[in-house]
Amino acid sequence: MSEAGIVILGAGQGGFQAAASLRDCGYAGRLVLVGDEPGLPYQRPPLSKAYMKSEAGIEQIELRAGAFYADHRIELVNARATAIDRPGQRLLLEDGTALPYAHLILATGARNRPLPVPGHDLAGVYYLRTLADADALKGKLAVARRVVVIGAGFIGLEFAAVARALGHEVTVLEGAGRVLARAVSPEMSAFFAHAHAAMGTKLVLGAGVVGLEGEGGHVTGVATGDGTVHPADFVLVGIGVVPNVELAAAAGLEVANGIVVDAHLATMDPAISALGDAVAYPSRFAAKDGTTHVRLESVQNAADQARSLAHRLTGRVSPFDAVPWFWSDQADLKLQMVGLAAATDSAVLRGDPASRRFSVFRFRDGVLTAIESVNRPADHMLGRRLLAGTPAITPAQAADESFELKSLLAK
Ligand code: FAD
Ligand code: NAP
Repeated sequence: MSEAGIVILGAGQGGFQAAASLRDCGYAGRLVLVGDEPGLPYQRPPLSKAYMKSEAGIEQIELRAGAFYADHRIELVNARATAIDRPGQRLLLEDGTALPYAHLILATGARNRPLPVPGHDLAGVYYLRTLADADALKGKLAVARRVVVIGAGFIGLEFAAVARALGHEVTVLEGAGRVLARAVSPEMSAFFAHAHAAMGTKLVLGAGVVGLEGEGGHVTGVATGDGTVHPADFVLVGIGVVPNVELAAAAGLEVANGIVVDAHLATMDPAISALGDAVAYPSRFAAKDGTTHVRLESVQNAADQARSLAHRLTGRVSPFDAVPWFWSDQADLKLQMVGLAAATDSAVLRGDPASRRFSVFRFRDGVLTAIESVNRPADHMLGRRLLAGTPAITPAQAADESFELKSLLAK
């Protein structure tokens, strides 16, 4: 029987990083990285940014060139896993192969939430999660003129900015009353709504999509609850994701809005850990409303959890406690966020949004919980250092541009 080393399920951002970090940390045993997408592991962020604009090719978005995997003795297996045999410590693949493991890392990520309305299956309706999705959309951007984007989250707004820059007529339909509602403050939402309108995008808030209309099997428009039909040559749906937890659940692992892990990213089975978009983990940044676990969808989270886990599996044990941070590029606007927005009750502005260079400092019970910055990377970097500890900054200091934020850092 082949050696039972570490098997990583999911060859995305987190799975790749776990494999690379295990080798960096000196793990010398068998290492297998299983993923169901074709090709080499790649970064997703450029799919809605430089790659979509054709400013980056496939070789720029691959996480490493092919030789890296052979050099580091990482076995890449392109297959879909169908079950976890916990008693036998084997991962079962769809072709009938059983991969033995001493330790299994689940890095299964998330998939797009499907649009739950009639007409969702018409041709011309696209989603954006994978390289294959991005290639299909790029093909449409080369010809079509009118695009309707459903969802003003990160995918929707990043794609809208690219489509406008390429000269398309863009309508964004958002169900909530503001854009990026899950991720940023009302102040930042208002700024981005204004910025997209200024780019020429038609933004409709509170738009309940009730159906997609089509002719000859191809989408022609999107109907909203107020009776309007928004004409479309194609549609991009970006209404969030659902975590890929089914294999874990079927294997009897605890699942609650994600595969539940402890502070060391271990599941209830000591031979199985999990990380990334698929995972709910205990965090001091959780909303202070009785919630203890968070599930984050970001490169930083997947990569930092992968590094932390590699350390634990090679003997350097310490709980995962990285400060969450995120970014989004929309036209010339670089949005950076640090901390978690949910646990806040007040906010102050540092700088003037009209200058397109400002930050929103968010507080709960007078304590800083998150900073959102536009084109102000210094505030973001400082925020990462402040939030790593217990930040002693008052709302008045944050709002006062003459106050030196750096003076708050320990000498
Ligand atoms: P993934 O990268 O999704 O990898 C999971 C992999 O597991 C997938 O390849 C999946 O197919 C595979 N898999 C799942 N189940 C199985 C199975 N049973 N068998 C085999 N394989 C399986 N984050 C940011 O922080 N900043 C950004 O600017 C940003 N931009 C983004 C832009 C786009 C277009 C998208 C889609 C995401 C973006 N993100 C961004 C989010 C970021 O990419 C994710 O948070 C990150 O990829 C999560 O890593 P992961 O390893 O948990 O999951
Ligand atoms: P998202 O950021 O969760 O945004 C989805 C948006 O769609 C939300 O505003 C949501 O509103 C709205 N929505 C939900 N159902 C709707 C409906 N039926 N009609 C209209 N609007 C609806 O998710 P996403 O933009 O789809 O992104 C998918 C994933 O990629 C996420 O994991 C995201 O983090 C990641 N991503 C990240 C970045 C980045 O970090 N820069 C960039 C691109 C993608 P409600 O919240 O009210 O439901």
